Amino acid sequence: MRRIAVLVIAIALLMSGAAWAQQSGQKSGQDGQQFLQALKQDHEKVMQDFKQLEQPGLSKEKKEQLWSQLKKDLEPHMKAEEETLYKTMEDKQSVKQAALRAEAEHQAAQTVMEKLDGMDVTDPRWDANLYVLSEQIKHHAKEEEGKFMQKAQQALGPNEMQKVYSDFQQEKQEQAK
Ligand SMILES: [Zn+2]
Repeated sequence: MRRIAVLVIAIALLMSGAAWAQQSGQKSGQDGQQFLQALKQDHEKVMQDFKQLEQPGLSKEKKEQLWSQLKKDLEPHMKAEEETLYKTMEDKQSVKQAALRAEAEHQAAQTVMEKLDGMDVTDPRWDANLYVLSEQIKHHAKEEEGKFMQKAQQALGPNEMQKVYSDFQQEKQEQAK
């Protein structure tokens, strides 16, 4: 009788352990998913900003206002990615090159942004450069939401991914100040 009771307890413990492991596994998976969703949300916001800025017939003031809104939505996101996700990936051989490439794309976009900052928004070349920037960001965001994040998740694993995600959110808030 006693042996059976011990056995029952042992099985119960094993089962709850398995359930716990499954739960924590699911939780980690969700964190990777959460990170991807957060990136997608940020990208979506910036794409909306571009759409608004590309409307014809905007006043100079409206354009300047929308441009500074776009930078407010884009720059903290980019900086936070560089400081957390890319930096972590650069330490892993399997994803180092992907991270360096993403960073180079950020730098290229930054160059165009500086150019836009130095120009008058009423200059037709301003719109031409804005178009170039929107194409750069579109391409970059699409890659990031696809293969790039898949590779990152594989290389970092759920725990590190979770840590990078919370660091990213914190850094983004810092950068927005
Ligand atoms: Zn991004």
